[in-house]
Amino acid sequence: MIDLHTHLDLYPNALDILARVNKENRFTLAVTTSPRAWVATSQVFKGHENIKVALGLHPEVADQKFNELDLLLSSIHKANFIGEVGIDGSARYSKTFEKQGLIFDNTIRECEKVGGRIISIHSRGAASKILSIIRKYPSCGTPILHWFCGSITELKEAVEMKCFFSVNPLMLKSKKGKDLVSRIPSKLVLPESDGPFATLNNKPIMPWEAMDICTDLSKIWNMPISDSKRQMMSNFERLNAHFPQ
Ligand code: MN
Repeated sequence: MIDLHTHLDLYPNALDILARVNKENRFTLAVTTSPRAWVATSQVFKGHENIKVALGLHPEVADQKFNELDLLLSSIHKANFIGEVGIDGSARYSKTFEKQGLIFDNTIRECEKVGGRIISIHSRGAASKILSIIRKYPSCGTPILHWFCGSITELKEAVEMKCFFSVNPLMLKSKKGKDLVSRIPSKLVLPESDGPFATLNNKPIMPWEAMDICTDLSKIWNMPISDSKRQMMSNFERLNAHFPQ
């Protein structure tokens, strides 16, 4: 099992499930919402070698955590994985749109400076803006658009730029989500749980359940479930080749 975007530190029982996540998943990307949380979580998750903690500053807390921007930028050189970062263009966060853009632009520029990173990106209501910034820094690394919900035009653009897309089980429960995912080339799709925020039947999706998307994907791609699982693993191997050494 693999999970490319989970808020493992925010599950109410995080410490109780750590060992299971490390055992069941050969790779879990635990994103964080602030650089200080990255420092603390890296410490707590130490020794769980299949769990990688990503350095992040979530766009929804751009205002509250703006004073951690320096810590973010100065830590990128020692973090192999970056996330959750991005821009949220929805009305609720419109007041901090400029600030979010500034944080994201600086982050991506720094990723390029240090030779490229794997970057898990939030792009709700701001996919075009995100893509225009990534385009400015072509050697920033490997962007993974998490829970993509942009337009079809934006999706095509992201595909041309060879972004990966991490898809969670909840996305595939809506018609719109299914339609978008059906337009992503299968070689660019990776599984995510986005737990504990993403829930199914009122229960947070667990990191070992991210690969459940393979059931729905097998219908979309018209192939056996085992083949959609194989596709996920070969996509992950390709991503793995981009991991900073
Ligand atoms: Mn998230």
